[in-house]
Amino acid sequence: MGQPMSTAPAAIAAEDAAVSRPRLVEQTWCIDRARRLYGVPRWGAGFFDVGEAGTMVVRPRGPAGPQIDLAALADDLVADGIGLPALVRFTDILRARTDTLQSAFEQAIAEHHYPGAYRAVIPIKVNQQWHVARAIVERGRRRGLALEVGTKPELYIAIGLATAPGDLIICNGFKDRAYVDLALGAQQLGRRSILVLDRVGGVEMVASAARRLGVRPRLGVRVKLSSKGAGCWSDSSGDHSKFGLDMTELLETVDALRAADMLDCLELLHFHIGSQITALRAVGDAAHEASRVFAELHRAGVGLRYLDCGGGLAVDYGGAVDGSGQVDYSVEQYASAIVSRVAQVCADAAVPVPTLMTESGRALLAHHSVLLFDVLEVHRAEPSTPISPPTADDDPLAHAVWRLGEVPIRDAEDTLARLGGLRADALRRFNDGALDLQARARFEAMAHTIERRLRLLVERRTPADIYYCNFSLFQSLPDYWGIDQLFPIVPVHRLDEMPDRRAVLGDLSCDSHGTVQTFIGQGDGEHGIMLHDPGAGRYVLGAFLVGAYQKSLSSLHNLFGATNAVHLALTDDGYELHEVAEGESMADVLEYVRFPQARVLADLTEAAEAAIARGALTREQAETLLAAHRDGLAETTYLVSER
Ligand SMILES: *Cc1c(COP(=O)(O)O)cnc(C)c1O
Repeated sequence: MGQPMSTAPAAIAAEDAAVSRPRLVEQTWCIDRARRLYGVPRWGAGFFDVGEAGTMVVRPRGPAGPQIDLAALADDLVADGIGLPALVRFTDILRARTDTLQSAFEQAIAEHHYPGAYRAVIPIKVNQQWHVARAIVERGRRRGLALEVGTKPELYIAIGLATAPGDLIICNGFKDRAYVDLALGAQQLGRRSILVLDRVGGVEMVASAARRLGVRPRLGVRVKLSSKGAGCWSDSSGDHSKFGLDMTELLETVDALRAADMLDCLELLHFHIGSQITALRAVGDAAHEASRVFAELHRAGVGLRYLDCGGGLAVDYGGAVDGSGQVDYSVEQYASAIVSRVAQVCADAAVPVPTLMTESGRALLAHHSVLLFDVLEVHRAEPSTPISPPTADDDPLAHAVWRLGEVPIRDAEDTLARLGGLRADALRRFNDGALDLQARARFEAMAHTIERRLRLLVERRTPADIYYCNFSLFQSLPDYWGIDQLFPIVPVHRLDEMPDRRAVLGDLSCDSHGTVQTFIGQGDGEHGIMLHDPGAGRYVLGAFLVGAYQKSLSSLHNLFGATNAVHLALTDDGYELHEVAEGESMADVLEYVRFPQARVLADLTEAAEAAIARGALTREQAETLLAAHRDGLAETTYLVSER
C-alpha cells in the first residue's frame, strides 16, 4: 500500500498515514486473531475452526471428532479433476445436527416431565437433494423423524424416502385434486401421510377424494396465529399470512369435518410463524397461543394427537452489520421454550399433551455444506503505477487537482466537493475536444489517488480491492442477493498470515449486483473483508453455512449452472467422496433455454458447410472445429483457473 503514498502530495500522505496506522499496523498475528477476525467461534457451531496449520478445518462429528483440512480438500478436488467451484456436503454434519435437535427436545421433555414425545420433521423444500434428505431420514427415523412437503414433486420425494412403517409425511401447501389423490394414494401404498387443511373449502375436496378412493384420510389443520415471528420471514404469520385458517375458519372447518363424519380423522394442529425467528420470546408466545387452540379444540371433542410448531429455529450466521442477525437462544433453549409452554397450558386446561413436532429445516441443514471457490484476479483499489507531480506539459486541470492535495486539509468534505467540480470541468473539456485522451487519463489517475485519501479521512476506512471469484452469486449464494442473508466467508488457508488487503468480492456474472460487499462481523462504517494478497498461487475462499435454501432458490443468471458437488462422509481412516455430481455443462444450461445441443451443433455445422463452400475453411479444419465445439459444450460454465 505504501508505494503510491510516497509520491502523493506530502500533506495528504502524512494525514493518510496517521489515519490508517491504528487499523493497518498490527503487532502480532496468531491463529486466535484469525478466528476472531472471521467470527469463527460464533458461527462454527463446533464444526468449523481455524487449525494450528493456519487452514480452515471441519470436524463433521463435532468438536471431539476427526477433522478434515479444507485447504487440503480443495487441493484434492482439483487434483481429482473435480475442480472449483465445488459444493461440499458433509453427511456427518447432517447426522450430528439431527442428533442435536432430537436430543435437545428429549432433554427438555425429561426436564419438564412432559408426558409426551417429540418428532423432528424435515421440510423437503429447504434442500430437496435426494441424498441430503435421505441422510437425515436414515439418521433420525429411529427417534421419530418425519417429513414435510409443500408440493406434488416434493411429495414424490417424501414417498420415496418414507419407506419405514413409522415414517410420517406432513402434506402442506396449495392442493389440487391430483395432490390430494397422491397423498391419499400414498396411504394406500402404506405410507403414512397427513393432509393439512389450510384454506376454507379444503374439506370438500378431501372428502370427495376419500370417498372416491375408499381411503380414510389422516388430516391436520393449519392455523394463523396472532403471535408474530421476529425474523426475516415473519410475514408467514399474523393476519395477512398466505397460509392458514383464522379462528372463524378453523371452527368452520371443524364443523364441516363433523358434518362429513370425518372429525375423527383430524390428528394434527399446525402453525408456522416464519423462518429464522431470532427472538426466543416469539417462539414461546406462539407455542403458548397454539397450545391454547389445541386445548380448546380438545375440549370441543377434537382428539388431536400432534402439535406441529412449524419452522423458525434460527441459525447463527455470525451476525449482520447492524446486529439484526443476532439469535438470542440455543437449540436447547428453543426446545425448552416450546416444551415448557405446551406442558403448562395443557396442565392448566387438564387436557392430555400432544406429541410435539418442529419442522426445523434451516437448523438441520444450514451447516452441512460449504462452497469452495477460487479467486481469479484482483483489481486493486490504488492505482498500479505511482502518480508523478504535474509538469509544464500538463493541462491546468492536472495542476489544479494536484494542488488540492498539497494544502493541509481542514475540511475534507469541502475538498471532495471541489474535486467533484474539477472532474466535471475535465469531462466538459474532454467532450469539447479541448482535452485529449492522454491528458484525461493523467487527470483521472491523480483525481483517483487524491479522492482515495480524502475518503479515508472522511469515512475513516480504507478503500477495498475487488477480488474476482470463480462463482456466481445468483447460482450459489442467492439468499445474499435476494434477502440480504450474510454468510461467513473465510480464506481456507494462510490464516497464520495476517491478511492486509481490504476486499469485496465480484462474481463472474455480468451483473452489477453480483458482488459481495457486506460480510458478517463488519464494524460500523467498515467496508469489505480482510483478505491476503493472492499472489501467483491458488487462493481459495469458503462460503459456509450454505446448506439451507440456497440450492433450491438458485438461478441461472448469465447461464452459470450448478457447481460441482460432492458428498463427503468420514470413514475409519479418513473420508470418502461419494455422489460426485459434475456441475451443469454448457449443453445442460442451453437446454433450459430451449436451445438443445443438437440444434447448437446443427447451426454450427451449417455455418461450417457455408465456410467450406466459400473456401474459408478446409473440410479437415471444419471437422476439428466442430469436434472442439462438441467437446466444449460438455464443459463447465465456470472458468477453469490456470493457477
Ligand atoms: C419453510 C417452512 C419450514 C422450514 O422453516 P425453517 O425456518 O427453515 O425451519 C417449515 N414449515 C413450513 C410450513 C415451511 O413453509
